[in-house]
Amino acid sequence: MCGNTEKEAGPLLQGVHGFICYSCSQRAHDLFEMLRQENQPPAPSPDTLQIKTPQEIKAHLDDYVIGQDTAKRVLSVAVYNHYKRLLYQSDEKRTADDVEIEKSNIVIVGETGTGKTLLARTISKILNVPFCIVDATTLTEAGYVGEDVENILTRLLQAADYNVEAAERGIVFIDEIDKIARKSDNPSITRDVSGEGVQQAMLKLLEGAVVNVPPEGGRKHPEQKMIAVNTQNILFISGGAFDGIERHIAARLKAHVIGFKEATGRSNKKDDNLLKYVQPQDLKRFGLIPELVGRFPVLASLNPLDREALQRILNEPKNAITKQYKALFAMDGVELTYDKAALEMVVDKAIEFKLGARGLRSLMETVMTDIMFDLPSKKDTTKVRITAKMVEEKIDKNKDTLSMS
Ligand code: ADP
Repeated sequence: MCGNTEKEAGPLLQGVHGFICYSCSQRAHDLFEMLRQENQPPAPSPDTLQIKTPQEIKAHLDDYVIGQDTAKRVLSVAVYNHYKRLLYQSDEKRTADDVEIEKSNIVIVGETGTGKTLLARTISKILNVPFCIVDATTLTEAGYVGEDVENILTRLLQAADYNVEAAERGIVFIDEIDKIARKSDNPSITRDVSGEGVQQAMLKLLEGAVVNVPPEGGRKHPEQKMIAVNTQNILFISGGAFDGIERHIAARLKAHVIGFKEATGRSNKKDDNLLKYVQPQDLKRFGLIPELVGRFPVLASLNPLDREALQRILNEPKNAITKQYKALFAMDGVELTYDKAALEMVVDKAIEFKLGARGLRSLMETVMTDIMFDLPSKKDTTKVRITAKMVEEKIDKNKDTLSMS
């Protein structure tokens, strides 16, 4: 296409009437991308956004996520307010006294496997604004191996099908935010690549700025035409396990207890779920820089999942794993039932092997695999009942692989 030879241009692709090199195909791609963006229909106006009330949002979360009531309420209100901000931004709808409603980015603190990502994914299903999940561990400071912080917005743009206006109203879930914490409490003189530098870079996105985003992600290379995205109305929700933050919470509470509570004889909080007392200063002690903590004004925590919660997770959500197997069996005309004791055994094993909620699926998978392997060949079977004995046998047989996962 450019007239260069294979020697000058590198490997060539052959078409019906000619050849194309890498650099021409890249240019063609960029050009088509530009045309596509120019020809896009305008984003639907905020007025057409259908707002769900916080209670409606929470009811939807209740269908899929067990427990975690406080976090659900906080999230529902935050998402609702996000929609309201968008609506009232148009001039004629500005509040009478011109109050500017600031966005309330959220941090969710909770042990791994307690539902942070599940909450985010579930909420995304009822939103009609673009939504994406990014993993903070992949981010590094510009100039180092890894992804630039701007790539967060690339994902959002992709979720919005490159409609910039729509992306500018979207919601981003940043997972594992705790992994970019500074490693020590002392601000170091030399910035650390994976921690503080990334936090600094992230500030720009959070505070509402026009950011140049590489449409295809990756590094900013000169051929890539940047897309300017204003982050002022993008809602950021972040989640992290913050392993060890209890230490900071306990230290703070202890000081507090000595000061105020000891005299009243209230029990100390040793056995409690300390996470529910988390405060912004604990996040700072953990290693998030104060500026970043300041840009996440809403803080929610998740409870660890106890036996009862695990039992409910197995049975109750709309797409509970036990329901999924029932549906699979029904497709073969087989009625699947579980003994109560069988499901209790699954939960016992999840606790024994310290697998948490995430392990429930692999345990059930272990139990069901043999049965699902044989079933389609047994033409006369119409009913399958899972007993505690079956669960125990199958899990014990595969114990080694399970406790490793
Ligand atoms: P994390 O907090 O590490 O992001 P996830 O949300 O990915 O945890 O949870 C892992 C899996 O465990 C989910 O896919 C879901 O199957 C199950 N799970 C965890 N917490 C809950 C919960 N509260 N309700 C229902 N299922 C849950």
